[in-house]
Amino acid sequence: MNRGLAILLIVGILSLVGARLPAADAPSEFGVNVILWFDTEDYLLPADDDATKRLAELLSARGVRATFKLVGEKARVLEQRGRTDVIAALKKHDIGYHANFHSVHPTPSEYLAECGLLDGIGEFVRREGGGAADVRRIFGVPTLSCYGQPGSSWGPQTIAGLKQIGVAPHGIPCYVDEGDHVGLGGKPFWYEGALVV
Ligand SMILES: [Zn+2]
Repeated sequence: MNRGLAILLIVGILSLVGARLPAADAPSEFGVNVILWFDTEDYLLPADDDATKRLAELLSARGVRATFKLVGEKARVLEQRGRTDVIAALKKHDIGYHANFHSVHPTPSEYLAECGLLDGIGEFVRREGGGAADVRRIFGVPTLSCYGQPGSSWGPQTIAGLKQIGVAPHGIPCYVDEGDHVGLGGKPFWYEGALVV
C-alpha cells in the first residue's frame, strides 16, 4: 500500500471510530482504542526515509506508539544508506513485516496460485523468510508483531506460514490488512495459529 492509501486508511479507521462514539453530550462508559499501522515500503526513493523518520518522531513526541510494517528491502536499504537515525526513530514503535519486496512480481498470490497448502507454505517461507530475518536483525527486535500482505496479494498459505518465518514458538502471531477479500464477518478470527485482523 502506498503512503497516501495508508493515511486514507487511518482516516477511515478514525472516521469509523468517530461514527461509533456517543454524542458529545452523552456520558461515555467505554474507552476507545485506535490502532495506527503504516506500510513502510518505499525502498526506491531516499526522500521516503526522511518522511518515515518525520512521521515516527511526530508520533513519538505525542506519546503515540504505532505499528510500522517494514518491507524487507526497505530495512536493507536503510542499513545500506547508513540511516541509523531512521532506524532508531522507528524502533520506538512496534515493528511488523510487510513482505520481502512488496510488489515485485511474482507477488505472494501469484507464486502461490498453483500451490496447495503445504508446498505453498514452503514457497512462502522460502521467499519471505529471509526478509523477515533481515528486519529482525536490522531493527534488533527479537520478534515481529505482525505480517501485512503487500497490496491485495493474499493466500491462505501466507497465514499458515507465519509460524515459520517468525521466531519459535509463536512465529509472527498476527496477520493484518484491510482488504475486504480477507475477512470473516468483519471480525477478527484465528486461522492456523495466527490472529487475523
Ligand atoms: Zn503496502
